[in-house]
Amino acid sequence: IQSKLPKVGTTIFTRMSKLAEDYKAINLAQGFPEFDCSPDLQKLVDKYIRRGKNQYAPMAGVMALREGISQKVFAATKTEYHPETEITITSGATEALYVAISTVVNPGDEVIVFEPAYDSYVPAIEMNGGIPVFVTLDPQYEYIDWEIVNSKVTEKTKAIIINTPHNPTGKVWTESDLKQLDFLAEKNSLFVISDEVYEYIIFDDLRHVSAASIPSLASRTFLCGSFGKTFHVTGWKVGYCLAPKEFTTEFRKIHQFMVFSVITPFQFAIAEFLKEPDHYLSLSAFYESKRNIFNEAIKDIGFVLKPSEGSFFQNVSYKNLSEEHDLVLAERLTKEGGVASIPLSAFYGEETNFRVLRFCFAKNDDTLLRAAELLNKVV
Ligand code: PMP
Ligand code: GLN
Repeated sequence: IQSKLPKVGTTIFTRMSKLAEDYKAINLAQGFPEFDCSPDLQKLVDKYIRRGKNQYAPMAGVMALREGISQKVFAATKTEYHPETEITITSGATEALYVAISTVVNPGDEVIVFEPAYDSYVPAIEMNGGIPVFVTLDPQYEYIDWEIVNSKVTEKTKAIIINTPHNPTGKVWTESDLKQLDFLAEKNSLFVISDEVYEYIIFDDLRHVSAASIPSLASRTFLCGSFGKTFHVTGWKVGYCLAPKEFTTEFRKIHQFMVFSVITPFQFAIAEFLKEPDHYLSLSAFYESKRNIFNEAIKDIGFVLKPSEGSFFQNVSYKNLSEEHDLVLAERLTKEGGVASIPLSAFYGEETNFRVLRFCFAKNDDTLLRAAELLNKVV
């Protein structure tokens, strides 16, 4: 077979999770919660399975869920997405992103991607014949240099992908960032793909600024979301894409032949659970406490802690401690130290040696403390 993705192997998440399993290490690598979702949500799934909601859902998704999403997004942004024509339920945000990228990218089109970047963007661009153009975040993740972003735009630029709160860095885009993005996208007629899967995990009184909250930006944006992080159900793979009607029409043409529709009883269950905003609005405080517990427990190791403003990831620089490449160190810490992490170089287009590891703190407090204890011994 002539590979369509010659540069791609098995994802770093799969590799590090396997290594963690083989060496019985604590897995702070792949991002997923250690704890279970609410028993109430589990009961709702059970209820809808028993009620016979077990056949194909409508192609665009169960209407009650589309309505629930529309209401929650309106409450947060004052932008109305019409459930009938502007909201599609997808198989996780991964499918939403892949389909959104496929909808707009044609061979030869350039797509601006901020790196470090979540690993699914670039292969999706390349599968559609597009060319990723990278803008590297500053090493402290403190700001986005819109002059640089601007300088990357050419007449071939078709789209720009943003992700806030950002995986892997935890960086949160500010209102000013979104306004500059809006200006840039408008000036150059760009599509925007906004990955907001960590929208409810945000710390230190910062605020999530959704692309949906700026009407002109919303009019160019495919907003991709997921319930995986929001309800601790990454295995359910229920996500969504919000986009203006004409965008959604084209998006659904691809979605219908990729998966057709998404798991039915789970959509009904999420729709009902979503009616209580406390179920997701309490998430930031929950994770902020975990971030603080983990950071306090690792503070004497000598890592330089990068700011984690949102998501459930903490990045640490070990440049004062070791010369090792981050993949080498991440593997050694897993095998010898009993703690798995993700080397940040995995999220860059070119080989880098920033010497940064990403730890996922979506774990029980005692797991975080045990991991810190092991790290204190081995680093
Ligand atoms: N985008 C980002 C930034 C993510 O971290 C993830 C999952 N970890 C996804 C997209 C994919 O979401 P899902 O699991 O709903 O497909
Ligand atoms: N998004 C998760 C992470 O960043 C992993 C998802 C996956 O394994 N594909 O760790």
